[in-house]
Amino acid sequence: MSSHAEVEVFLSRKHGHLIDGAWLTAGERIEVVNPATGKSIASVAAGTAEDVDKAVRAARRAFEDASWSACSPSQRGRWLWTIADLIESHAEELAELEYLDNGKSRSVILKGDIPAAADVFRYFAGWATKIYGQTLAVSRPGTLHAYTVKEPVGVAGLITPWNFPLLMAVWKLAPALAAGCTCVLKPAEETPLTALRLAELVHEAGVPAGVVNVVTGYGHVVGAALAAHPGVDKVAFTGSTEVGKLILQAAAGNLKKLSLELGGKSPTIIFPDAKLPAAKQAAAMGIFFNAGQVCAAGSRLFVHRAVFDEVVDSVIASARAIRVAPGDDPQGQMGPLISAKHLQRVQGYVASGREEGARVAVGGQRLQREGYFFQPTVLLDTRREMRVTAEEIFGPVLVCGQFEDLDEVAREANDSIYGLSASVWTQDLNIAHTLARKLQAGSIRINTGGGLDPNLPFGGYKQSGWGREFGEEGLALYLQTKSVLIGA
Ligand code: NDP
Repeated sequence: MSSHAEVEVFLSRKHGHLIDGAWLTAGERIEVVNPATGKSIASVAAGTAEDVDKAVRAARRAFEDASWSACSPSQRGRWLWTIADLIESHAEELAELEYLDNGKSRSVILKGDIPAAADVFRYFAGWATKIYGQTLAVSRPGTLHAYTVKEPVGVAGLITPWNFPLLMAVWKLAPALAAGCTCVLKPAEETPLTALRLAELVHEAGVPAGVVNVVTGYGHVVGAALAAHPGVDKVAFTGSTEVGKLILQAAAGNLKKLSLELGGKSPTIIFPDAKLPAAKQAAAMGIFFNAGQVCAAGSRLFVHRAVFDEVVDSVIASARAIRVAPGDDPQGQMGPLISAKHLQRVQGYVASGREEGARVAVGGQRLQREGYFFQPTVLLDTRREMRVTAEEIFGPVLVCGQFEDLDEVAREANDSIYGLSASVWTQDLNIAHTLARKLQAGSIRINTGGGLDPNLPFGGYKQSGWGREFGEEGLALYLQTKSVLIGA
Protein backbone atom coordinates (compact mmCIF):
# COMPACT_ATOMS: atom_id res chain seq x y z
CA MET A 1 0.00 0.00 0.00
CA SER A 2 1.33 3.52 -0.74
CA SER A 3 1.98 5.73 2.29
CA HIS A 4 -0.87 7.98 1.15
CA ALA A 5 -3.28 5.03 1.10
CA GLU A 6 -1.98 3.92 4.53
CA VAL A 7 -2.72 7.39 5.89
CA GLU A 8 -6.25 7.35 4.44
CA VAL A 9 -6.92 4.00 6.11
CA PHE A 10 -5.40 5.19 9.39
CA LEU A 11 -7.44 8.40 9.46
CA SER A 12 -10.69 6.55 8.79
CA ARG A 13 -10.21 4.16 11.71
CA LYS A 14 -12.08 4.47 14.96
CA HIS A 15 -9.11 5.20 17.19
CA GLY A 16 -9.14 4.10 20.79
CA HIS A 17 -6.77 3.92 23.73
CA LEU A 18 -4.01 1.35 23.57
CA ILE A 19 -4.19 -0.54 26.85
CA ASP A 20 -2.35 -3.80 27.43
CA GLY A 21 -1.93 -4.32 23.70
CA ALA A 22 -5.65 -3.91 22.85
CA TRP A 23 -7.56 -0.94 21.47
CA LEU A 24 -10.47 0.33 23.59
CA THR A 25 -12.76 2.56 21.56
CA ALA A 26 -15.77 3.09 23.83
CA GLY A 27 -16.97 6.48 25.03
CA GLU A 28 -16.93 10.12 23.90
CA ARG A 29 -14.93 11.27 20.89
CA ILE A 30 -12.66 14.24 20.16
CA GLU A 31 -12.42 15.57 16.61
CA VAL A 32 -8.88 15.96 15.33
CA VAL A 33 -8.65 19.13 13.25
CA ASN A 34 -6.20 20.00 10.47
CA PRO A 35 -5.03 23.51 11.47
CA ALA A 36 -4.41 24.44 7.83
CA THR A 37 -8.11 24.00 6.99
CA GLY A 38 -9.97 24.03 10.29
CA LYS A 39 -11.63 20.78 9.20
CA SER A 40 -11.85 17.49 11.02
CA ILE A 41 -9.60 14.70 9.68
CA ALA A 42 -10.17 11.97 12.27
CA SER A 43 -11.50 11.38 15.75
CA VAL A 44 -9.94 9.87 18.84
CA ALA A 45 -11.36 8.61 22.11
CA ALA A 46 -11.84 11.12 24.92
CA GLY A 47 -10.34 9.16 27.81
CA THR A 48 -11.62 9.14 31.36
CA ALA A 49 -10.01 8.62 34.76
CA GLU A 50 -11.15 4.97 34.51
CA ASP A 51 -9.26 4.55 31.24
CA VAL A 52 -6.16 5.99 32.87
CA ASP A 53 -6.59 3.58 35.77
CA LYS A 54 -6.80 0.61 33.37
CA ALA A 55 -3.71 1.80 31.51
CA VAL A 56 -1.73 2.30 34.72
CA ARG A 57 -2.68 -1.20 35.92
CA ALA A 58 -1.60 -2.63 32.56
CA ALA A 59 1.71 -0.78 32.81
CA ARG A 60 2.23 -2.09 36.36
CA ARG A 61 1.44 -5.66 35.31
CA ALA A 62 3.87 -5.35 32.40
CA PHE A 63 6.54 -3.83 34.66
CA GLU A 64 6.38 -6.85 36.93
CA ASP A 65 6.06 -9.42 34.13
CA ALA A 66 9.20 -11.38 33.33
CA SER A 67 8.76 -10.71 29.59
CA TRP A 68 9.86 -7.15 30.39
CA SER A 69 11.43 -7.10 33.85
CA ALA A 70 13.69 -10.11 33.19
CA CYS A 71 14.55 -9.37 29.59
CA SER A 72 18.19 -8.53 28.97
CA PRO A 73 19.33 -4.93 28.49
CA SER A 74 20.61 -6.02 25.12
CA GLN A 75 17.10 -7.14 24.14
CA ARG A 76 15.70 -3.76 25.25
CA GLY A 77 18.35 -2.07 23.14
CA ARG A 78 17.43 -4.22 20.12
CA TRP A 79 13.77 -3.30 20.51
CA LEU A 80 14.63 0.39 20.59
CA TRP A 81 16.83 0.00 17.54
CA THR A 82 14.02 -1.81 15.69
CA ILE A 83 11.60 1.00 16.56
CA ALA A 84 14.08 3.45 14.99
CA ASP A 85 14.19 1.31 11.83
CA LEU A 86 10.38 1.20 11.72
CA ILE A 87 10.15 4.97 12.10
CA GLU A 88 12.44 5.33 9.10
CA SER A 89 10.64 2.77 6.98
CA HIS A 90 7.33 4.53 7.77
CA ALA A 91 8.77 8.02 7.32
CA GLU A 92 6.43 9.12 4.52
CA GLU A 93 3.35 7.90 6.35
CA LEU A 94 4.35 9.47 9.68
CA ALA A 95 5.24 12.76 7.95
CA GLU A 96 1.87 12.88 6.23
CA LEU A 97 0.00 12.20 9.47
CA GLU A 98 2.07 14.78 11.32
CA TYR A 99 1.60 17.58 8.79
CA LEU A 100 -2.14 16.95 8.56
CA ASP A 101 -2.47 16.92 12.35
CA ASN A 102 -0.04 19.69 13.30
CA GLY A 103 0.15 21.83 10.15
CA LYS A 104 3.93 22.05 9.86
CA SER A 105 5.81 21.47 6.62
CA ARG A 106 5.87 17.88 5.41
CA SER A 107 9.37 18.28 3.99
CA VAL A 108 10.67 19.71 7.28
CA ILE A 109 9.17 16.72 9.09
CA LEU A 110 10.83 14.34 6.63
CA LYS A 111 14.21 16.09 6.86
CA GLY A 112 14.07 17.00 10.54
CA ASP A 113 11.55 15.38 12.87
CA ILE A 114 11.64 11.82 11.47
CA PRO A 115 15.44 11.37 11.35
CA ALA A 116 15.68 13.02 14.78
CA ALA A 117 13.06 10.62 16.18
CA ALA A 118 14.98 7.60 14.83
CA ASP A 119 18.26 9.05 16.17
CA VAL A 120 16.84 9.47 19.67
CA PHE A 121 15.69 5.83 19.75
CA ARG A 122 19.12 4.66 18.51
CA TYR A 123 20.91 6.88 21.02
CA PHE A 124 18.96 5.44 23.95
CA ALA A 125 19.22 1.91 22.49
CA GLY A 126 22.94 2.28 23.22
CA TRP A 127 22.29 3.30 26.81
CA ALA A 128 20.17 0.20 27.61
CA THR A 129 23.37 -1.87 27.97
CA LYS A 130 25.34 0.82 29.78
CA ILE A 131 23.37 1.29 32.97
CA TYR A 132 25.68 0.73 35.90
CA GLY A 133 26.14 1.45 39.60
CA GLN A 134 29.37 1.99 41.49
CA THR A 135 31.51 0.18 44.03
CA LEU A 136 32.09 2.65 46.84
CA ALA A 137 34.66 2.96 49.58
CA VAL A 138 32.92 3.23 52.95
CA SER A 139 34.31 4.18 56.35
CA ARG A 140 35.08 0.65 57.57
CA PRO A 141 37.36 -0.77 54.87
CA GLY A 142 37.68 -4.53 54.86
CA THR A 143 34.55 -5.05 56.95
CA LEU A 144 31.88 -3.68 54.64
CA HIS A 145 31.38 -3.91 50.91
CA ALA A 146 29.18 -1.23 49.37
CA TYR A 147 27.81 -0.77 45.90
CA THR A 148 24.94 0.92 44.10
CA VAL A 149 22.58 -0.42 41.48
CA LYS A 150 20.38 1.57 39.14
CA GLU A 151 16.81 0.36 38.82
CA PRO A 152 13.94 1.60 36.69
CA VAL A 153 11.62 4.00 38.51
CA GLY A 154 8.58 1.92 37.55
CA VAL A 155 5.47 3.16 35.75
CA ALA A 156 6.08 6.46 33.94
CA GLY A 157 3.29 8.84 32.90
CA LEU A 158 4.34 10.78 29.79
CA ILE A 159 2.39 13.95 28.96
CA THR A 160 3.32 15.64 25.69
CA PRO A 161 2.43 18.86 23.82
CA TRP A 162 1.35 19.56 20.27
CA ASN A 163 4.27 21.51 18.82
CA PHE A 164 6.47 18.49 17.92
CA PRO A 165 3.99 15.68 18.53
CA LEU A 166 6.04 12.69 17.36
CA LEU A 167 9.37 13.99 18.67
CA MET A 168 8.05 14.87 22.11
CA ALA A 169 6.61 11.37 22.50
CA VAL A 170 9.95 9.90 21.37
CA TRP A 171 11.98 12.13 23.71
CA LYS A 172 10.16 10.51 26.62
CA LEU A 173 9.47 6.96 25.43
CA ALA A 174 13.03 6.17 24.33
CA PRO A 175 14.81 6.87 27.67
CA ALA A 176 11.91 5.40 29.67
CA LEU A 177 12.13 2.11 27.76
CA ALA A 178 15.94 2.08 27.78
CA ALA A 179 15.80 2.40 31.58
CA GLY A 180 13.28 -0.46 31.85
CA CYS A 181 10.21 1.57 32.80
CA THR A 182 6.74 0.89 31.44
CA CYS A 183 4.64 3.81 30.25
CA VAL A 184 1.29 5.47 29.86
CA LEU A 185 1.52 8.16 27.20
CA LYS A 186 -1.01 10.99 26.96
CA PRO A 187 -0.50 13.00 23.75
CA ALA A 188 -1.89 16.53 23.31
CA GLU A 189 -5.58 16.54 22.44
CA GLU A 190 -4.85 18.52 19.23
CA THR A 191 -2.19 16.14 17.89
CA PRO A 192 -2.69 12.53 18.99
CA LEU A 193 -2.23 10.77 15.64
CA THR A 194 1.49 10.09 15.33
CA ALA A 195 1.65 8.97 18.98
CA LEU A 196 -1.02 6.36 18.21
CA ARG A 197 0.82 5.20 15.10
CA LEU A 198 4.12 5.15 16.99
CA ALA A 199 2.57 2.93 19.66
CA GLU A 200 1.64 0.45 16.92
CA LEU A 201 5.21 0.48 15.63
CA VAL A 202 6.47 -0.12 19.16
CA HIS A 203 4.40 -3.30 19.27
CA GLU A 204 5.42 -4.27 15.76
CA ALA A 205 9.02 -4.05 17.01
CA GLY A 206 8.19 -6.78 19.53
CA VAL A 207 7.88 -4.78 22.76
CA PRO A 208 5.53 -6.79 25.03
CA ALA A 209 1.91 -5.71 25.47
CA GLY A 210 1.33 -3.30 28.36
CA VAL A 211 4.83 -1.80 28.26
CA VAL A 212 3.60 1.18 26.23
CA ASN A 213 -0.01 2.25 26.70
CA VAL A 214 -1.62 5.35 25.19
CA VAL A 215 -4.67 7.17 26.54
CA THR A 216 -5.93 10.04 24.40
CA GLY A 217 -8.12 12.84 25.70
CA TYR A 218 -8.27 16.16 27.46
CA GLY A 219 -5.47 17.39 29.66
CA HIS A 220 -7.71 18.35 32.57
CA VAL A 221 -9.18 14.81 32.56
CA VAL A 222 -6.60 12.31 31.29
CA GLY A 223 -3.46 14.33 32.07
CA ALA A 224 -4.74 15.27 35.50
CA ALA A 225 -5.72 11.65 36.31
CA LEU A 226 -2.29 10.43 35.22
CA ALA A 227 -0.49 13.07 37.28
CA ALA A 228 -2.53 12.18 40.37
CA HIS A 229 -2.65 8.38 40.00
CA PRO A 230 -1.05 6.58 42.97
CA GLY A 231 0.13 3.78 40.67
CA VAL A 232 2.30 6.13 38.61
CA ASP A 233 5.86 6.48 39.93
CA LYS A 234 7.09 9.24 37.68
CA VAL A 235 5.66 11.88 35.37
CA ALA A 236 7.59 13.41 32.48
CA PHE A 237 5.84 16.49 31.11
CA THR A 238 6.47 19.02 28.36
CA GLY A 239 4.13 21.98 28.09
CA SER A 240 3.23 25.25 29.73
CA THR A 241 4.65 26.41 33.04
CA GLU A 242 1.07 26.89 34.25
CA VAL A 243 0.16 23.22 33.69
CA GLY A 244 3.58 22.16 35.01
CA LYS A 245 2.59 23.70 38.35
CA LEU A 246 -0.75 21.84 38.32
CA ILE A 247 1.10 18.59 37.71
CA LEU A 248 3.40 19.36 40.60
CA GLN A 249 0.39 19.71 42.90
CA ALA A 250 -1.32 16.57 41.55
CA ALA A 251 1.88 14.54 41.92
CA ALA A 252 2.19 15.39 45.62
CA GLY A 253 -0.17 12.56 46.69
CA ASN A 254 2.39 9.80 46.23
CA LEU A 255 5.41 12.10 45.79
CA LYS A 256 5.99 11.09 42.17
CA LYS A 257 9.32 11.85 40.61
CA LEU A 258 8.82 14.71 38.16
CA SER A 259 10.62 16.04 35.14
CA LEU A 260 9.17 19.21 33.66
CA GLU A 261 10.18 20.85 30.39
CA LEU A 262 8.24 24.09 30.42
CA GLY A 263 7.97 27.44 28.73
CA GLY A 264 10.59 29.92 27.63
CA LYS A 265 11.20 33.50 26.56
CA SER A 266 14.66 32.96 25.21
CA PRO A 267 16.99 35.82 24.25
CA THR A 268 19.01 36.11 21.04
CA ILE A 269 21.89 38.53 21.68
CA ILE A 270 23.84 40.06 18.79
CA PHE A 271 27.10 42.01 19.22
CA PRO A 272 28.46 44.29 16.48
CA ASP A 273 31.50 42.04 15.83
CA ALA A 274 29.29 39.01 15.05
CA LYS A 275 29.17 37.43 11.61
CA LEU A 276 26.07 39.45 10.86
CA PRO A 277 24.62 37.54 7.88
CA ALA A 278 24.44 34.33 9.94
CA ALA A 279 23.27 36.18 13.06
CA LYS A 280 20.46 37.95 11.19
CA GLN A 281 19.26 34.72 9.64
CA ALA A 282 19.36 32.92 12.99
CA ALA A 283 17.44 35.75 14.67
CA ALA A 284 14.63 35.35 12.11
CA MET A 285 14.66 31.54 12.10
CA GLY A 286 14.83 31.50 15.88
CA ILE A 287 11.35 32.96 16.12
CA PHE A 288 9.64 32.04 12.84
CA PHE A 289 10.64 28.36 12.68
CA ASN A 290 7.58 26.19 13.46
CA ALA A 291 5.58 29.44 13.59
CA GLY A 292 7.29 30.28 16.88
CA GLN A 293 5.67 27.29 18.55
CA VAL A 294 8.96 26.18 20.05
CA CYS A 295 9.77 26.15 23.76
CA ALA A 296 13.30 27.43 23.05
CA ALA A 297 12.19 30.01 20.42
CA GLY A 298 14.34 33.15 20.39
CA SER A 299 11.39 35.42 21.15
CA ARG A 300 13.39 38.34 22.60
CA LEU A 301 16.01 39.91 20.33
CA PHE A 302 18.71 42.09 21.90
CA VAL A 303 20.93 43.91 19.40
CA HIS A 304 23.87 46.17 20.16
CA ARG A 305 23.04 49.81 19.44
CA ALA A 306 25.73 50.03 16.74
CA VAL A 307 24.00 47.44 14.50
CA PHE A 308 20.44 47.57 15.80
CA ASP A 309 18.84 49.15 12.71
CA GLU A 310 20.74 46.94 10.29
CA VAL A 311 19.85 43.69 12.11
CA VAL A 312 16.24 44.56 12.82
CA ASP A 313 15.65 45.78 9.25
CA SER A 314 16.97 42.45 8.03
CA VAL A 315 14.69 40.44 10.36
CA ILE A 316 11.72 42.55 9.23
CA ALA A 317 12.63 41.87 5.59
CA SER A 318 12.84 38.13 6.35
CA ALA A 319 9.44 38.26 8.03
CA ARG A 320 7.96 39.92 4.93
CA ALA A 321 9.53 37.35 2.62
CA ILE A 322 8.42 34.25 4.51
CA ARG A 323 5.89 32.20 2.61
CA VAL A 324 3.15 31.28 5.06
CA ALA A 325 1.42 28.20 3.66
CA PRO A 326 0.02 24.75 4.43
CA GLY A 327 2.53 22.00 5.14
CA ASP A 328 2.17 20.33 1.74
CA ASP A 329 3.29 23.48 -0.14
CA PRO A 330 6.87 22.68 -1.23
CA GLN A 331 7.75 26.40 -1.12
CA GLY A 332 6.02 26.97 2.23
CA GLN A 333 8.23 28.25 5.05
CA MET A 334 5.80 28.72 7.91
CA GLY A 335 2.62 26.77 8.66
CA PRO A 336 -0.47 27.62 10.68
CA LEU A 337 -0.82 27.95 14.43
CA ILE A 338 -2.15 24.84 16.07
CA SER A 339 -5.77 25.81 16.78
CA ALA A 340 -8.38 28.55 16.65
CA LYS A 341 -7.91 28.99 20.40
CA HIS A 342 -4.17 29.42 20.07
CA LEU A 343 -4.62 31.86 17.15
CA GLN A 344 -6.87 33.95 19.39
CA ARG A 345 -4.26 33.82 22.14
CA VAL A 346 -1.51 35.07 19.82
CA GLN A 347 -3.80 37.78 18.40
CA GLY A 348 -4.62 38.80 21.97
CA TYR A 349 -0.93 39.22 22.78
CA VAL A 350 -0.31 41.40 19.73
CA ALA A 351 -3.37 43.50 20.62
CA SER A 352 -2.11 43.91 24.19
CA GLY A 353 1.30 44.97 22.84
CA ARG A 354 -0.35 47.64 20.68
CA GLU A 355 -2.42 48.89 23.63
CA GLU A 356 0.70 49.13 25.78
CA GLY A 357 2.51 51.20 23.14
CA ALA A 358 4.40 48.70 21.00
CA ARG A 359 4.74 49.38 17.27
CA VAL A 360 4.02 46.57 14.81
CA ALA A 361 6.87 46.82 12.30
CA VAL A 362 5.63 43.89 10.23
CA GLY A 363 2.80 41.34 10.45
CA GLY A 364 0.38 41.41 13.35
CA GLN A 365 -2.59 39.93 11.47
CA ARG A 366 -4.08 36.54 10.77
CA LEU A 367 -4.15 35.50 7.11
CA GLN A 368 -7.51 35.96 5.44
CA ARG A 369 -7.91 32.35 4.40
CA GLU A 370 -9.12 29.09 5.94
CA GLY A 371 -7.03 27.70 8.77
CA TYR A 372 -5.18 29.37 11.61
CA PHE A 373 -2.37 31.21 9.82
CA PHE A 374 -0.74 34.22 11.44
CA GLN A 375 1.80 36.58 9.89
CA PRO A 376 5.42 36.64 11.04
CA THR A 377 5.43 39.63 13.36
CA VAL A 378 8.07 42.01 14.70
CA LEU A 379 7.23 44.42 17.51
CA LEU A 380 9.33 47.53 18.19
CA ASP A 381 9.28 50.07 21.04
CA THR A 382 8.56 47.32 23.55
CA ARG A 383 9.37 47.69 27.24
CA ARG A 384 10.25 45.02 29.78
CA GLU A 385 7.00 45.38 31.74
CA MET A 386 4.78 44.71 28.69
CA ARG A 387 3.07 41.31 28.52
CA VAL A 388 4.54 40.69 25.04
CA THR A 389 8.02 41.04 26.52
CA ALA A 390 7.47 39.13 29.74
CA GLU A 391 5.18 36.24 28.77
CA GLU A 392 5.57 33.27 26.46
CA ILE A 393 3.46 33.96 23.35
CA PHE A 394 4.34 30.70 21.56
CA GLY A 395 3.73 32.24 18.16
CA PRO A 396 5.74 34.02 15.44
CA VAL A 397 6.04 37.26 17.40
CA LEU A 398 9.42 38.86 18.12
CA VAL A 399 10.16 41.74 20.49
CA CYS A 400 13.37 43.73 19.96
CA GLY A 401 15.54 45.81 22.26
CA GLN A 402 18.91 47.60 22.08
CA PHE A 403 21.84 47.39 24.46
CA GLU A 404 25.12 49.20 25.02
CA ASP A 405 27.27 46.77 27.00
CA LEU A 406 27.59 43.20 28.19
CA ASP A 407 26.45 43.72 31.77
CA GLU A 408 23.35 45.56 30.63
CA VAL A 409 22.32 42.84 28.17
CA ALA A 410 23.06 40.03 30.65
CA ARG A 411 20.84 41.76 33.19
CA GLU A 412 18.00 42.28 30.72
CA ALA A 413 18.25 38.81 29.21
CA ASN A 414 18.06 37.30 32.71
CA ASP A 415 15.10 39.49 33.63
CA SER A 416 12.58 36.71 33.04
CA ILE A 417 10.84 33.99 35.01
CA TYR A 418 12.10 31.62 32.30
CA GLY A 419 15.56 30.23 31.61
CA LEU A 420 15.41 27.63 28.88
CA SER A 421 17.86 28.77 26.25
CA ALA A 422 19.92 31.75 25.04
CA SER A 423 21.74 32.43 21.81
CA VAL A 424 24.77 34.73 21.60
CA TRP A 425 26.43 36.07 18.45
CA THR A 426 29.95 37.46 18.75
CA GLN A 427 33.50 36.73 17.53
CA ASP A 428 34.96 37.85 20.86
CA LEU A 429 35.88 34.85 23.02
CA ASN A 430 35.84 36.89 26.17
CA ILE A 431 32.27 38.07 25.56
CA ALA A 432 31.21 34.54 24.61
CA HIS A 433 32.61 32.92 27.75
CA THR A 434 31.47 35.71 30.04
CA LEU A 435 27.91 35.51 28.76
CA ALA A 436 27.91 31.70 28.80
CA ARG A 437 28.62 32.06 32.53
CA LYS A 438 26.28 34.95 33.28
CA LEU A 439 23.17 33.87 31.37
CA GLN A 440 20.66 31.95 33.45
CA ALA A 441 19.54 29.31 30.96
CA GLY A 442 19.82 25.55 30.52
CA SER A 443 21.22 25.85 26.97
CA ILE A 444 23.61 28.52 25.71
CA ARG A 445 24.16 28.61 21.96
CA ILE A 446 27.09 30.65 20.74
CA ASN A 447 27.22 31.50 17.03
CA THR A 448 24.68 28.82 16.23
CA GLY A 449 20.92 28.88 15.99
CA GLY A 450 20.31 25.17 16.52
CA GLY A 451 21.83 22.95 19.09
CA LEU A 452 19.78 19.90 20.06
CA ASP A 453 21.61 16.62 20.26
CA PRO A 454 20.54 13.41 22.00
CA ASN A 455 23.84 13.44 23.92
CA LEU A 456 23.45 17.05 25.12
CA PRO A 457 21.27 17.61 28.20
CA PHE A 458 18.33 19.91 27.50
CA GLY A 459 16.12 21.60 30.07
CA GLY A 460 15.41 24.76 31.94
CA TYR A 461 16.64 27.04 34.68
CA LYS A 462 14.06 28.88 36.81
CA GLN A 463 10.44 28.31 35.76
CA SER A 464 11.47 26.63 32.50
CA GLY A 465 11.52 23.33 34.26
CA TRP A 466 13.02 20.58 36.35
CA GLY A 467 15.49 18.00 35.10
CA ARG A 468 17.29 17.52 31.80
CA GLU A 469 16.16 15.41 28.88
CA PHE A 470 18.79 13.74 26.65
CA GLY A 471 22.21 12.47 27.59
CA GLU A 472 22.92 10.41 30.67
CA GLU A 473 20.90 12.88 32.74
CA GLY A 474 17.90 12.18 30.51
CA LEU A 475 18.21 8.47 31.17
CA ALA A 476 18.65 9.10 34.91
CA LEU A 477 15.17 10.67 35.03
CA TYR A 478 13.80 7.14 34.68
CA LEU A 479 16.20 5.41 37.10
CA GLN A 480 16.60 5.30 40.85
CA THR A 481 19.66 4.40 42.89
CA LYS A 482 19.76 1.58 45.42
CA SER A 483 22.69 1.39 47.84
CA VAL A 484 23.70 -2.09 49.00
CA LEU A 485 25.88 -2.65 52.05
CA ILE A 486 27.29 -6.11 52.80
CA GLY A 487 28.90 -6.96 56.10
CA ALA A 488 31.96 -9.22 56.36
P1 NDP B 1 -0.49 22.68 27.99
O1 NDP B 1 0.63 22.85 28.94
O2 NDP B 1 -1.86 22.87 28.45
O3 NDP B 1 -0.43 21.20 27.32
C1 NDP B 1 0.61 20.29 27.38
C2 NDP B 1 0.08 18.90 27.72
O4 NDP B 1 -0.45 18.90 29.05
C3 NDP B 1 -1.07 18.46 26.82
O5 NDP B 1 -1.01 17.07 26.61
C4 NDP B 1 -2.28 18.83 27.67
O6 NDP B 1 -3.45 18.16 27.32
C5 NDP B 1 -1.79 18.44 29.04
N1 NDP B 1 -2.54 19.03 30.14
C6 NDP B 1 -3.34 20.14 30.12
N2 NDP B 1 -3.87 20.35 31.34
C7 NDP B 1 -3.41 19.39 32.15
C8 NDP B 1 -3.58 19.07 33.53
N3 NDP B 1 -4.35 19.81 34.33
N4 NDP B 1 -2.94 18.01 34.03
C9 NDP B 1 -2.13 17.27 33.26
N5 NDP B 1 -1.94 17.49 31.94
C10 NDP B 1 -2.56 18.55 31.39
O7 NDP B 1 -0.22 23.58 26.76
P2 NDP B 1 -1.31 24.13 25.74
O8 NDP B 1 -1.44 23.14 24.69
O9 NDP B 1 -2.58 24.54 26.41
O10 NDP B 1 -0.61 25.44 25.27
C11 NDP B 1 -0.69 26.60 26.08
C12 NDP B 1 0.65 27.27 26.17
O11 NDP B 1 1.59 26.36 26.73
C13 NDP B 1 1.25 27.63 24.85
O12 NDP B 1 0.73 28.79 24.35
C14 NDP B 1 2.69 27.73 25.22
O13 NDP B 1 2.96 28.96 25.81
C15 NDP B 1 2.87 26.65 26.24
N6 NDP B 1 3.43 25.40 25.66
C16 NDP B 1 4.73 25.17 25.85
C17 NDP B 1 5.31 24.05 25.30
C18 NDP B 1 6.75 23.76 25.47
O14 NDP B 1 7.32 22.98 24.71
N7 NDP B 1 7.40 24.32 26.48
C19 NDP B 1 4.56 23.12 24.47
C20 NDP B 1 3.15 23.44 24.37
C21 NDP B 1 2.64 24.56 24.94
P3 NDP B 1 -4.44 18.84 26.25
O15 NDP B 1 -3.69 18.85 24.99
O16 NDP B 1 -5.58 17.95 26.21
O17 NDP B 1 -4.75 20.20 26.77
